[in-house]
Amino acid sequence: MTPFRPAVRSLVLAVLAATSFTSRAAESIPAPVDQPYPGAIVLNVDASNTSQQIFRIKESIPAKPGKLTLLYPQWVPANHGPSGPLNQFAGLKLSANGKPLAWTRDPINVHAFHIDVPRDAKTVEAEYQYLSPTEPSQGRTTITSDILGVQWHSMALYPAGYTTRRIQVQANLTLPEGWDYATALETSERKGDTVQFKPLDLETLVDSPLFAGRYHKRYDLDPGAKLPVHLNVFADTAEAVEAKPEQIELHRALIQQAYKLFNSQHYAHYDFLLALSEEFGGIGREHHQSSENGVKLDYFTDWSKAESVRGLLPHEFTHSWNGKFRRPAGQNVPNFNTPLQNSLLWVYEGQTQYWGHVLSARSGLIRLENVRDILAATAARYDAMRGRSWRPVQDTTYDPIINGRRPLGWSSWQRSEDYYNEGALIWLDADTMIRELSGDTKSLDNFARNFFGIENGSYTANHYTFDDVVKALNAIQPYDWATFLRTRVETVGPAPLDGLARAGWKLVYTDTPTPYLKGVEERNKSADFQYSLGFSVSSEGRIEALQWEGLGFQAGLGGSTTLLAVNGTAYKADVLRAAVTAAKTSGKPIELLVKKGSKYRTILLDYHGGLKYPRLERIADTPDRLQAILSPLK
Ligand SMILES: [Zn+2]
Repeated sequence: MTPFRPAVRSLVLAVLAATSFTSRAAESIPAPVDQPYPGAIVLNVDASNTSQQIFRIKESIPAKPGKLTLLYPQWVPANHGPSGPLNQFAGLKLSANGKPLAWTRDPINVHAFHIDVPRDAKTVEAEYQYLSPTEPSQGRTTITSDILGVQWHSMALYPAGYTTRRIQVQANLTLPEGWDYATALETSERKGDTVQFKPLDLETLVDSPLFAGRYHKRYDLDPGAKLPVHLNVFADTAEAVEAKPEQIELHRALIQQAYKLFNSQHYAHYDFLLALSEEFGGIGREHHQSSENGVKLDYFTDWSKAESVRGLLPHEFTHSWNGKFRRPAGQNVPNFNTPLQNSLLWVYEGQTQYWGHVLSARSGLIRLENVRDILAATAARYDAMRGRSWRPVQDTTYDPIINGRRPLGWSSWQRSEDYYNEGALIWLDADTMIRELSGDTKSLDNFARNFFGIENGSYTANHYTFDDVVKALNAIQPYDWATFLRTRVETVGPAPLDGLARAGWKLVYTDTPTPYLKGVEERNKSADFQYSLGFSVSSEGRIEALQWEGLGFQAGLGGSTTLLAVNGTAYKADVLRAAVTAAKTSGKPIELLVKKGSKYRTILLDYHGGLKYPRLERIADTPDRLQAILSPLK
């Protein structure tokens, strides 16, 4: 670095002095301290503007004269990354005693706003908007003409220097005219379309989102229970909220099977918020006493088609125990601007994914054979995934931070958030290991009861470490669980498929897709050739899910490529399927005409293995532990 020469330096200083320089040096941001914030914040959210999708917010923040730093939440539990929607926060205007107050954004931490509170002020008034994405390319739509979702962390500034559980908030919400709402929050009163909630701490408020809508129906999932559980359905149409009694019975079975598994409840009541929509953004997000669930409109009305989607509620409900009541120590953050530590997400999400599958089958929400097909698809995915040769699954827990859930060009090599599904395979491995070692007298069910079923009735988060997990496994079945888990999560190598074999099943490939895979093809509007040619093809002919080092990759196929013709015939999924089958006996390569940008190319795939789709096949003369795992508890 070259130091300034005096003449240059004085010139620079003169320019700086002449410039109206409003930015200032970074100020210290007070660290969160476990002390009560004096007074209660009043947060008024006006959510009535559905046509422009604008939430207007007014907030009164008790304050003392002097420096005040307000934070916009960045790291919100259950989001797994720094995804607070700061880019959708706009129009900030501050005042005290009716006079405007200047604010300065911290130049290093852009989620922090510094203010000098004047001498005579007791409250800072803030006005701003949260702007829902108006196009899917901007992010998740959170308000439509029929449904809205309020995630309080998107709507609130809060003072630095205090833990969020010591900041009291009085939240009020104005709804579109005549709409119903559902939330785990307690209501003080509703006057017209304005709802006043009972004051509570900021941490619980942020953990208690709200859905509202024009069409709403509330189903009791545990009639007569001391701790009520409700399914609150909102939809684009009046018909879509109507569930048949037998559909509700399966959701009720989910509650009872979860209680048999976890033997505890850590809430006063639980509310599933379920949006069925073609416009409101899809979501699955866990909370302690509720969950946000958003799927397509046909959840109840096209029951047979939507089967695999029914794994969502079992997954999110499980989180009340794993992820919320019990959560990895690194997820215990004092405020929403402290980084989350994700390294144990393979327990938090991986085991939840496993229990999600298990409870889907035990409740009957997904038929047992379909859960088996889901496991087959998962096993095949990791068996084929070349990215496993360089990146251990634990490292993928950082992907929400690294990639923020954007699409990836080479996901089979880069890997993405595999701690969910590969995590589920690891827990199947652990479950079957306990069963085998204990002569089928113990299982991971015992672990769930001991680990998540403690302190029944407590709402206070209880944290766990890697050693806690190992200790709890050892208490069920002595074994070297530390090595067992570390080998699977921290090292690279073959996919963890031992659990399948111990469950009495093996992964095979046949030329017919399972009903589950057929459903995936229909939903994604694509044809799956991943395990034969090493890619999928969209209905428009776009080559997708290109497998790193697969056949297509080796032939030089890359992204943004369209498949135009197969052996001289215009591309259709059936034309390619027929060509793959014919090549089995013809001995000739498959000829693909592809287009990338303005360039056309012919590619020859010298492949004669036929169509390949994964499924599970029984290993003869072994116990069918998968059947035991997926059968309802008595
Ligand atoms: Zn989850």
